[in-house]
Amino acid sequence: MNEQLMKILIIGDGNVGKSSFVHRYVNGQFNKTYKMTVGVDFSVKLLHWSDNKKVRLQLWDVAGQERFISMTRIYYKGALGCVVMFDVTSSSSFLSCRQWKQDLDNKAMLSNGNTIPCVLLANKCDLSQRVVSADSIDRFSKANGFITWMEISVKENKNIGEAMRRLVEEILSV
Ligand code: GDP
Repeated sequence: MNEQLMKILIIGDGNVGKSSFVHRYVNGQFNKTYKMTVGVDFSVKLLHWSDNKKVRLQLWDVAGQERFISMTRIYYKGALGCVVMFDVTSSSSFLSCRQWKQDLDNKAMLSNGNTIPCVLLANKCDLSQRVVSADSIDRFSKANGFITWMEISVKENKNIGEAMRRLVEEILSV
């Protein structure tokens, strides 16, 4: 049995649902009062990827950052994949994704010099007060080198596992 460790970063503005996402994915729960400690912390999820392969995901959430902030290289070090998240009811959280992705591409590199695989996740698609259209997300995703983008709802448990599976597949293929 082969086991691979993968450090994955979860970045994006505050309040978009990053810690809820990690909590949902790792513990299978959505809990309104759940809040991670401020700072950077990681949670672990073990995936039985195939008969002879396990993947140990280390999910690093930038908690406590309201807006974009340039992260230290130590945070990015060794990361193999990334999730950039925004909230479809907040245009400012969508606009910040460009800065989050640029900071990532400037500081996080694979040993072959390539940028790390990154998915763009549009959270809270259960809400009706949506202000960011699928069309603009699609254009932005293509123009900024994301492997793909997906609409998710942590609240309704929509596309959470699918998004992570897509990212892990990409990491395993590079
Ligand atoms: P973070 O600051 O990015 O880690 O965001 P949190 O995980 O703390 O979530 C911020 C708020 O958004 C909380 O009140 C969550 O309950 C709420 N939230 C997270 N995901 C969803 C979702 O998919 N739909 C809705 N309606 N609310 C969500």
